[in-house]
Parts: sequence; C-alpha cells; structure tokens
Amino acid sequence: MQLTGTGVGGGIAIGPVVRMEDPLPEPVDHPSERTPDIEAGRAADALSATAADLAERGRTAGGAAKEVLEAQALMAADPTLATEVANRVQGGATAERAVFDAFAGYRDTLAAMGGYLAERAADLDDISQRVRAHLAGVPAPGVPAPGHPFVLVARDLSPADTATLDLDQVRALVTAEGGPTSHTAILAREKSIVAIVGVRDASTLADGEVVIVDAGADTVTVAPTPAQLADAERRIADRATLAAAPLEPGRLADGTPVPLLANLGSADGAAEAVRLGAEGVGLFRTEFLFLDADRAPTVEEQRVEYVRLLEAFPGRKVVVRVLDAGADKPLSFVNDDVEPNPALGLRGIRALRAAEPVLRDQLTALAQADAATDAELQVMAPMVATVEEARYFTELAKELGVAVAGVMVETPSAALIADRVLAVTDFASIGTNDLAQYTMAADRLLGSVAALQDPWHPAVLRLIGEVGAAGAKTGRPVGVCGEAAADPLLAVVLVGLGVTSLSMSPSAIAEVRSSLLGFARADAERFARAALATDGASEARGAVREAVAAMRGDSDAGSLNRGG
Ligand code: PEP
Ligand code: MG
Repeated sequence: MQLTGTGVGGGIAIGPVVRMEDPLPEPVDHPSERTPDIEAGRAADALSATAADLAERGRTAGGAAKEVLEAQALMAADPTLATEVANRVQGGATAERAVFDAFAGYRDTLAAMGGYLAERAADLDDISQRVRAHLAGVPAPGVPAPGHPFVLVARDLSPADTATLDLDQVRALVTAEGGPTSHTAILAREKSIVAIVGVRDASTLADGEVVIVDAGADTVTVAPTPAQLADAERRIADRATLAAAPLEPGRLADGTPVPLLANLGSADGAAEAVRLGAEGVGLFRTEFLFLDADRAPTVEEQRVEYVRLLEAFPGRKVVVRVLDAGADKPLSFVNDDVEPNPALGLRGIRALRAAEPVLRDQLTALAQADAATDAELQVMAPMVATVEEARYFTELAKELGVAVAGVMVETPSAALIADRVLAVTDFASIGTNDLAQYTMAADRLLGSVAALQDPWHPAVLRLIGEVGAAGAKTGRPVGVCGEAAADPLLAVVLVGLGVTSLSMSPSAIAEVRSSLLGFARADAERFARAALATDGASEARGAVREAVAAMRGDSDAGSLNRGG
C-alpha cells in the first residue's frame, strides 16, 4: 500500500515508524477555582519559561532554525498575547483555558490570511502547547527517542522540533499537515532530511511498521515487499555513492560546462552548499531574511548579511535576488494593501517600485558588500513582466553601483519577449516555480491544482526554449533557479533548451551533476525536441525517458528520474 504527499527534495529512506504523541487536548472550559491573581501569575510564569526555552533552543540550533526559534520565542513573549491571556484570567478563566483561547484567536487570524502567514499558524499552536505543558507540569510534546533509527510520523512537526532533530536517529519525516513552503519543509530541505509533508492518511501508520519513504516519488510505501526493499536499498546506496563522488564542476559528457549553483535563503546554509559542491549561488532569496521584520532593514543591517554570504564564495558567482515581497511572502514594510488575488498583484519588482526607497537601500547595501568582498556579485529582480521593468531595474542597479544586473523570467510575458528583455539587461534566470504557476494558471500553494503545476508541461518548456534561444541570440547567460533544475532528467532537457547554468537546493547537486555527465549536447537537444513534441507533462517525461532508454539500449526506462 502507498500513501502520497508532497516530497521535500529527492531522498529515500527505510525504517520503522515511530509516531509522535498527539498534542495536548483542549482544556475544559470551567471557571477557575483559584483567584485571578494566582492564575495570572501561573500564566505569566509559563509564558516566560516557554519564551526562555525557545530562545535557548534557538541559540543551540543555529542555521535557519535559529531564526525560526527566535521568532517563536518573540511570539511567546508578545505583550499583546500576554494581555489577552491576563484579560481572560481576570474574567475567571483558568490559565490553561486563557492561554488556549488567546493563542487560538491569533492562530485563526493568521490562518485566514492565507499563504505564507497561514503556514505560520502552526507556530502559534506549538507555542500554545508548550505553555500548557508547562502549566500541567508535563514534558512539552516533542520528538520521541526510541533508541534506534526510525521514521518519524507526526500530525505536523513544529519548527522547534524540526530544528533539533537528531539526524543520526531520524531517517525520514512524514507529516499529515503542512505544505511545501511550511517551516517544516523549509528546515527539512536545509538539513537534507528525507521528508514528505501533507500525507493525509499519515495517521493510519502504526508504530513499528517498516515503511519506505521516497520523497522524489512523493510516496510512503507500507509493508513493502522484499523486492521493493531491495530496490530502495540499492537506490539509497546509489545516492550515497553519488554524494561521495568528486565535487567536479557541472558539465555534459562532451565537456560543455553547466555550472551547478545553490539556492539559499540565508548565509547559514553557505558552508553546507560549498561542501556539497555548489560552484556559487544562483538564487539568494533575500526576503527570507526579513519575513518577520516589521520595519525596513537599514542599509547597514543588510550589508552585514550580504557580506556574510559573499565571504563564503570568494571568486565565485553569487546571484542575489532583491526582495520578492508579496503573494505568499508579504513583507509588512513593502506590502500594505490586502489584495483579492495577490499572486497577480503588487509582487516582486512591482512592489519594490511602489516602495522605491526600500529597493534603493537594498541595492546600495549589495554594492557596498560587493566592494568589501571578492565574490562576483550579480543582482536580479523577481516577477519582471515588461521590457520597461527590466530596463528600470537594470539602470537603477547600475546607478547605485551594482556591476551586473539581470532579471528573473517568471511570467509568460517576459519569456515570450525574452529577446527584447535581454537586450536591456545582463542576464536572465528562469523561475520555473512561478513560470509554471502563471503559464498553467494554477496556484502553486493549492494542492487541488498541483498536478497542473508541472514544469515538464510542453507549454512551460516552449517558453523556456524561447528564453534559451534569446540568450543564444543576444549572447547573454540564461540560468534556471526554480525547482525544475533539481530534477536530474529535466535538468538535461533544460540544457537542451539553451539554459547555461542550473541553481537548486544544495542537496540535489550531486544527482544533477551525475545525470548531466551521461549526455552530450546533441542528446540534450534531442530530448528537448522530444519533450516539446508532446501533449502534456507526463507524456513529455515519458518521451524523454524512452529516448534515454533507446540511447542506452535498455528497457528499464522506469528507473530513470524517479526524482522527477
Ligand atoms: C521560482 O519562481 O521558480 C523561483 C525560483 O522563485 P520563488 O520560488 O522564490 O518564487
Ligand atoms: Mg518566483
């Protein structure tokens, strides 16, 4: 039997299920037998103890986890929440009930906002649980420690728990809740944990049951057959061999260089990216640095962050994207309007133009960081739809001292007129996540239309081909920095469509490097033609698998690109 969800990365793992305890139940709603002052004291103590505990975990965790835990500690210490709790206690509630109701109120407000903020709702639930566990004198709900390696199954793992997972024990993570941009997924990706989120039937998995977790195929296989286990073991061994292969620069079999770059959201991931063979950075998502900020960061605050990043890549290309604020990643200091359809609203370069001082400060900080370090900084704008926007951004970046400025191609319009766009800017980087979303008119956050969100679709591939051809015509580089670049077989097709570099989660680099080495440019171009000549995404994938199998003279086309 197989359960399905959304895989994070392409890893695979086998192990016995250990379920994480279900959360504390809702406290009964009866008037307190204690005085309001005593209840108020209990609540205040529990809130501050929880804030201190989260801050302490943040200090020891490091990485993206540190920021997440620090943000949670701030939420636990939030004075407005404390006042909400105090008011309820004065009204006669127990501390337990007051905490439950106050946090639930905030949680519902966040959940109703949708997108990125809705995924933060789990953070508030987690803090509420921790505060109530403190009140009850029981351990905070957390990760079990059975004393042997296991597959952790949970309703939704909190950021605090994901951050402190013991990677020697937890082989994989399966959660019932959570989307691909939830904190659990972000942290799992950064820590290279094999994970599948949003597995609706995860609650049917029983303790001790051995499962195969295949993040690339989005499946959890229950009660696997000996043949399935042997296949999974072989693939785990193959991945380990790949990971241990020499960290050579990316290239095709005929020597055509295809630089393999890292997608990062904080300088904390830089050392790991270098260890995994990243030749530089193809996408640094700066908005991840400031998601919790309630005012625009100063030039100096930003400069420090950018210097930290650039110092990790001396002599290497580092492409930093200016803030992609809006849609599922609103920043309070850039996006102040509620929009009925935010993915089509003031997002990316449109939002920055409306808040030009923020853009100017960011470009200034980037130019200063570049001057202070030896990396080859390039800066790009997200969500460009017109030649005029590309010209505006490139000119402003240069005016403020940025040497190389380019644009992301994430809208069908930018792809269709890529030759005109590239005439006014230095390079293009294709964001296939958004390009697929906008080409297929399928919200990337919505599970019900996830099947349409497939970069293998020939409509998306045609647009990528337009950009590749425009790059060749104008002599400008064309990268891909969406998730498509991490798909080992699609990566070859992208090169066949004229893409000159690939940027991805660092954990995907080894597999993509190995895949590229299997084919020459003429093969890649042939695969691209085969994919373009189909009616849909699965047909395109199938056509390329068949072309590869024909070339290798084997019939096992199914073993190719399970990670796709
Ligand atoms: C993309 O859209 O493909 C991309 C890389 O940007 P993001 O995922 O941050 O929107
Ligand atoms: Mg994008």
